[in-house]
Amino acid sequence: MATINENYLKLEKNYLFINIAKKVNEYKEAHPDADIIRMGIGDVTLPIAKCVVDAMKKGADEMGVKETFRGYEDSGTGYDFLKEAVSGYYESFGVTVKPSEIRINDGAKSDCGNIVDIFGDDNIVLITDPAYPVYVDTNLMSGRKVIYADSNEENGFAAMPDESVHADLIYLCSPNNPTGSAYTKDQLKVWIDYAIKNNAIIIYDAAYEAFITDEAIPRSIFAVEGARRCAIEMCSLSKTAGFTGMRCGYTVIPDELTVTASDGTVVSISQLWGRREGSKFNGVSYPVQCAAAAVFTKEGYEQTRENIKYYQENAKVIAAAMDEMGIKYTGGKNSPYIWLKCPNGMKSWDFFDKLLTEANVVGTPGAGFGKNGEGWFRLTAFGDSERTKEACERIKKLKF
Ligand code: PLP
Repeated sequence: MATINENYLKLEKNYLFINIAKKVNEYKEAHPDADIIRMGIGDVTLPIAKCVVDAMKKGADEMGVKETFRGYEDSGTGYDFLKEAVSGYYESFGVTVKPSEIRINDGAKSDCGNIVDIFGDDNIVLITDPAYPVYVDTNLMSGRKVIYADSNEENGFAAMPDESVHADLIYLCSPNNPTGSAYTKDQLKVWIDYAIKNNAIIIYDAAYEAFITDEAIPRSIFAVEGARRCAIEMCSLSKTAGFTGMRCGYTVIPDELTVTASDGTVVSISQLWGRREGSKFNGVSYPVQCAAAAVFTKEGYEQTRENIKYYQENAKVIAAAMDEMGIKYTGGKNSPYIWLKCPNGMKSWDFFDKLLTEANVVGTPGAGFGKNGEGWFRLTAFGDSERTKEACERIKKLKF
């Protein structure tokens, strides 16, 4: 008889955004004329930069010509032209990462979720709460013990380690989804020192790195001393260049990163992950990698930053509305997310219902990201600018 991985039965029945979509669809069915503005799911809305699309078309054309056709990519870790482009991008903000330390993937979610394969199920996993749900879900799927570091109003939603607690794997996300907070170099140094003291590994999610405007906020954990000995970094072109429908990201594993196995052998994490990927992943399509490389050209950089600026303007509009209403929030700066405190002590899902039914605006209840998210709510700046303004006007008219 086939049995199942019963850890799956311990998960929330549906992924957060499926629950939201269900509620919105039910409302739409009952109110077909409602003009709903969606500021919930963190998906981008602007089209991909022209030079990036052109590069993808050129790559696709090459696939139709005998001389330039490509089948399986030899390494499965990404073409050298793209790894060199990513390495050059790191160099542009003062961080040295060798092309051979970079692995191209189909987006950060895959690696965030799959990296657990190479770590023992006896690891104690520390996750900041609230968090992007993938970190918790994928560890619960393999039956690991998860402990939490509280991100809350008192610490500006930037959890710091408790020195009296031991952890083996640590998930950090900066700029953070959902809270929009971003760690300073000094704060990251505290986490790195804690990781080294505990022989732990930090899995650092930098998916929103491109939204950093503040010079004091590092764009990579590898900008901080000690990180190469204890961290893996995951990044993505989804939010940087509108690749949510294209699928391309990259993971950096420094050569120095090792773990000692139970027989005393020193094992390279990069090699172990390479072994896993060799059996379970065949790389990203050539045209998409061509497009990704174009993002890192001068022209591609300029065009994609125009889109980011557009979203940053939306973030300012939402933040200004919150200021006007006297609502407390984090994010908006260095991040496309505004993480706001529900007025009058309202619970997250109650606020969701009020916004949906009275303003026809959809956001994301903070409670869906962990216990510290209760009473908080996430709005995204990834929408259309006129619709974002309209949503803010509607929210400002609500009575609490
Ligand atoms: N990490 C964080 C923190 C995210 O918010 C997301 C997507 O919303 C991802 C990773 C996944 O991004 P990708 O589209 O690259 O899989």
